[in-house]
Amino acid sequence: MIRWSLDGSTTERWIAVGKRPGWPGKAGLNCFLLAATVFAPAVLATEAEELAVLASRHFDPDFLSRSAEYHQYRLQLFLLQTTLLLSFLLLLVRGTLGQWGRKAVEIAGGRPWLARVLILGSIYVALALLRLPFSVVRYHHALSYGLRHDTLQLYLTDWTKSFLVTGSMVLIVGLLLLGLFALFPRAWTVIATVVTGLLAVVLTILAPLLIDPLYYQFRPLDNKALENRLVAMASCAGLVADKVLVANASRRSSSVNAYFTGIGATRRIVLYDNLIEKFSDEEVAMVFAHELGHWKGNHIRQGLSFGILGLFIGLVFADRLLRRLVDRPLNGIRSRGDPALAVPAYAIYVLLMFVALVPSNMISRQVEAEADWTALELTGDPRTFVETRVRISQSNLSNVLPSKWVEFLFFGHPSPARRIRMAENYDPLRSELPAGHCQESLNSPFPRIAS
Ligand SMILES: [Zn+2]
Repeated sequence: MIRWSLDGSTTERWIAVGKRPGWPGKAGLNCFLLAATVFAPAVLATEAEELAVLASRHFDPDFLSRSAEYHQYRLQLFLLQTTLLLSFLLLLVRGTLGQWGRKAVEIAGGRPWLARVLILGSIYVALALLRLPFSVVRYHHALSYGLRHDTLQLYLTDWTKSFLVTGSMVLIVGLLLLGLFALFPRAWTVIATVVTGLLAVVLTILAPLLIDPLYYQFRPLDNKALENRLVAMASCAGLVADKVLVANASRRSSSVNAYFTGIGATRRIVLYDNLIEKFSDEEVAMVFAHELGHWKGNHIRQGLSFGILGLFIGLVFADRLLRRLVDRPLNGIRSRGDPALAVPAYAIYVLLMFVALVPSNMISRQVEAEADWTALELTGDPRTFVETRVRISQSNLSNVLPSKWVEFLFFGHPSPARRIRMAENYDPLRSELPAGHCQESLNSPFPRIAS
């Protein structure tokens, strides 16, 4: 979910010298890596060649070309969709739709909050309707590659649920921010960061109970030998994994996955039923070890902290832009409390969300690489790690060898080729922990559970 390197390669390099990646010093190292990998074509070419050779050792050429073709089409769709959305926003702020804010104020008959609801709601619906055809094409595309098997009706039901959940959040947070901007000209960015940050924490706590059940049904793991093994591994890692649940993902797709979610009492690791049914216990345990890596590394809290910091930076930026709009009236906007301000405010929000993709993906890749690293340390078994990663990539038709820029902009995980390379470079003898110190819990079906 959540969630400092270009692509997780910092962690690979730290591992290569036998040191655990720590937060201090990472920023400097990553700036160096960013400069080295992005601006030095020779480095790029050599690394791409190395990863291509690695991929050809683990995947057959048919799979690699099929996966490249699948993801190329999805990328083209994304670029087309983004161009359309940004053009719409431009029309709304500067073009022929520029008077919509004033019109909405008129329709609301002098009730400013109703005008804001009308503006935020209408832009949200328009953007969702612009995205919908692209979502349906993506659905059919995945269906044709055998990656999904849900009906269009079920797909659209899921789409409607997320439309309503996200729409409610956009409306609540949007009204809150516009109200604070109008009422507290000086301190609104700080107040908004605190209030929205608290909302994000509450949502993270409640999501496993309120949001996830909208899409999946959860059951306890019925393979007791496997459950004992996983609980023992968590215990070996110093964690109490009292909630390991299985989600009925197979109802919709063949994708194999697992995730760690929640805070405090709602914290849990969820495994997809596809994973349990198609993969060996050793492979499931390896995936579980990765999720334990997120837990042990406090990645959800880290993600929330970075998210709240990013929110504050975004609000300061939005404040500058909105103040300029009020000072030099655009589309008849007269004051900080003018409801028509909701139009440019929404456009700024969408733009900032696009921009935020890059840093949030950078952080996410680093966090994912650290969870992989913890899985290697817990199990001391890079071979099973590689086998599991190869099988998951095959099942999900993953983009094993994305271009450097695609990975930099869009990948929340290091590419499968990089993850495999990290495992192949992992040397248990250089680990900070005794090599594979949880290996026993991985291999023995009936381990002793530490108290
Ligand atoms: Zn992960």
